[in-house]
Amino acid sequence: MQIKILGCSGGIGGNLRTTSMLVDDDILIDAGTGVGDLSMDALMKIDHILLTHSHLDHIGFIPLLIDTVMGFRLEPITVHATQETLDTLRDHIFNWKVWPDFNMIPNATQPFLLYNEIELGKTLDFGGRKFTPVPANHVVSAVGFHVEGSEHSLIFTGDTTVCEALWFEVNKIKNLKYLIIETAFSNSEFELAKLSKHLCPSMLVSELKKLDTAIHSTPIEVFITHLKPGEGETIMQEIADCKLAHPIQALENNQVFNL
Ligand SMILES: [Zn+2]
Ligand SMILES: [Zn+2]
Repeated sequence: MQIKILGCSGGIGGNLRTTSMLVDDDILIDAGTGVGDLSMDALMKIDHILLTHSHLDHIGFIPLLIDTVMGFRLEPITVHATQETLDTLRDHIFNWKVWPDFNMIPNATQPFLLYNEIELGKTLDFGGRKFTPVPANHVVSAVGFHVEGSEHSLIFTGDTTVCEALWFEVNKIKNLKYLIIETAFSNSEFELAKLSKHLCPSMLVSELKKLDTAIHSTPIEVFITHLKPGEGETIMQEIADCKLAHPIQALENNQVFNL
């Protein structure tokens, strides 16, 4: 199982893309602006989209993706998300005003877009590729994902601030190899990070201290995502200054993880 990063920035501009990951060639985790770099052939292969939450930087390209590939595919695309996230998509995106309701097109019995509700701890299994929603703490209903391949596990936190429940789950995963965690703001924006329920480096450091390294059999590599455009260097320097035990680097576009 291979995960390729399509977008990992908190914003756009130049070569920055917002959050999306391609799993093999048929599953997306979040569908930010990074999806727009995929070829038409690659877009047509997407069967499933797993969402962490409803914010635009994570869902923005779902409407355009569906509109582009419909008519060339026999099977629908299924969006997997929490009930609250699905309700937000129905009410505010696919509402005939912002975009057509592809859950009713071409008809309600065989639509181009299907919705599947996910729940914390309930694993989605796509031919042995397992995705389990894990807790997150954000301003809207949000989850992260525990992604499990045949050899290794990866945790993607999605957007979150301090979250005890997340570490309780993470510390059960013995084959955890990669941790992709957000740090949206620099320390000077601590109040903003708290208010918008993101992390800044000082909060990240206290969160990473909750990682129980004794139970993990492999060294965990930490990757930072969702850096605010223009602040990436400051945020990464503030993290480096903390001299944490784990190898930590910024997540990059086109980076590939094998699980
Ligand atoms: Zn968000
Ligand atoms: Zn976000």
